Amino acid sequence: MTQPELPAAYGLLASAHLGGGRAPEAAFATRGRHTRLTERLPGQTVDAVLVHPGADCAGAHTAEEDTLVLLAGEIYNRDEIHDTLGTPTDATDAELLAGLFAKYGPHAFRVVNGRYAALLATGGRLLAATDHAGSVPLYVRAEPGHTLAATEVKALTGAGGDGGTVGAGGTVRGAPIPGARRVRGLPGVHQVPAGAVLDIDVAAGTVTAHRTWVPPVHRRLMDEDEAVDRVRAALEAAVVRRLPGTHRPLVVLSGGIDSSAVAALSDGVATAGIDTLSMGTDTSDEFPQARVVARHLRSTHREITVPSAELLTLLPHTVHAAESLDPEVIEYLLPLTALYRRMDGPARRVLTGYGADIPLGGMHREDRLPNLDTAVAHDMDTFDGLNEMSPVLSTVSGHWSTHPYWDREVLETLTSLEAGLKRRYGRDKWVLRAAMGDLLPAETVNRPKLGVHEGSGTTASFSALVLRAGAAEDEVAAVKGRVVRELYDRVVVGGAHPDTVDVEELTGKIVAEGRG
Ligand code: ATP
Ligand code: MG
Repeated sequence: MTQPELPAAYGLLASAHLGGGRAPEAAFATRGRHTRLTERLPGQTVDAVLVHPGADCAGAHTAEEDTLVLLAGEIYNRDEIHDTLGTPTDATDAELLAGLFAKYGPHAFRVVNGRYAALLATGGRLLAATDHAGSVPLYVRAEPGHTLAATEVKALTGAGGDGGTVGAGGTVRGAPIPGARRVRGLPGVHQVPAGAVLDIDVAAGTVTAHRTWVPPVHRRLMDEDEAVDRVRAALEAAVVRRLPGTHRPLVVLSGGIDSSAVAALSDGVATAGIDTLSMGTDTSDEFPQARVVARHLRSTHREITVPSAELLTLLPHTVHAAESLDPEVIEYLLPLTALYRRMDGPARRVLTGYGADIPLGGMHREDRLPNLDTAVAHDMDTFDGLNEMSPVLSTVSGHWSTHPYWDREVLETLTSLEAGLKRRYGRDKWVLRAAMGDLLPAETVNRPKLGVHEGSGTTASFSALVLRAGAAEDEVAAVKGRVVRELYDRVVVGGAHPDTVDVEELTGKIVAEGRG
């Protein structure tokens, strides 16, 4: 089965309630058409808004008897699911989830490999589920008789998720959800953890959380050849699962090994060839390295240069899209925000090399294997909630991004390799480089890592801004953290439009407050 060109829906907002209720207003950063639907089930009523790229979003919802499924995103192991369910091959992703639920109950989500957030209303319960990586963020607020859920925090705020933070008894509204993170500034709102399903009793407003995936903690010993073959096969299969049959995919290409590998494998699969796109700034770029790969693959290649000054004005947009409070993540995502915003034209499916460094320990220049594995285990334990993989970065301009290294099978394969296969012969990400040796030029395979925040000069530009505002060298990291928090409070919680926030002024204010 080939992948449809785009998922049926990019985002969702739903209100599940027992009594009357008004359809929620939807404020998404995600661009797309909005479809409203109301489903009166025997045990609850669900009012929902789906935001979607195409003319209709029929594949993103299905209702039968007492069950409603809403889906933002897509499933990658459809073939396996068809085989086990015996469903017609034209079944939609929402129908597959409904079929899996009929068979496995809430454990249905344990068998799905995908990039999605899903809601499943059944009887008096609402299940809110994320994929293994939580790669499509999902937020809920459960109160007795009324649960709100959405793929963006700001959609919940707009829908009344911030309505009266203090209840009649003077208590903060919204039940605590064990294991789920509270969302800053919005009492009662929680983020559904990665690889989890929250089982919500809509009448009582109580929540039980179940894990559907955890990062592997075991490590496998294998010889070089077997490791290389497995990595190559897993990554290739992940790329195949992400490619539509006839359309040209677009790969965002830095010329580093991660995105170059995705480009090479995509080129091997896509019958119509591939497009590649690179971004740089007026101070820094990796254009020559990306060109080497583009020429080698004969891709249709485009370069975008963003002025550094403009880059920083997009900080509020990055926080608005990613809804992340982590200043380092915002630095990685800022150049990509700039890139996606410059991608005009019809909606595209975009493949990235994002995230390879996390299971492979690529950013840790560490020859001592115990330390390298400690770093990998730590990164795998702490990725959740950073929203690094959020599709909203690109759906703000209508495009759908997908990250083959964070395919469930690739991630499991990479994470569980023993550290000596990741760092070998003094080289980072050795197993990946070896796996790609025959598809890419040697200079690409051997190129040392350069993070997107480094290659584009983002980190340096943001640091320079903070220093210009009067901070001392040793205050830079802390000030960046405060800037990102303040941006979050304004554009995510406060509902301000990102264009209305002046980053330079805000940074100056924060540095001055730190002094005062
Ligand atoms: P490497 O570890 O070899 O640098 P990488 O460049 O692929 O690999 P990152 O720099 O962490 O990894 O960037 C993450 C992803 O973002 C890349 O895989 C690529 O898809 C995209 N990306 C990064 N830099 C650029 C760029 N300058 N232009 C276009 N896309 C980019
Ligand atoms: Mg790079």
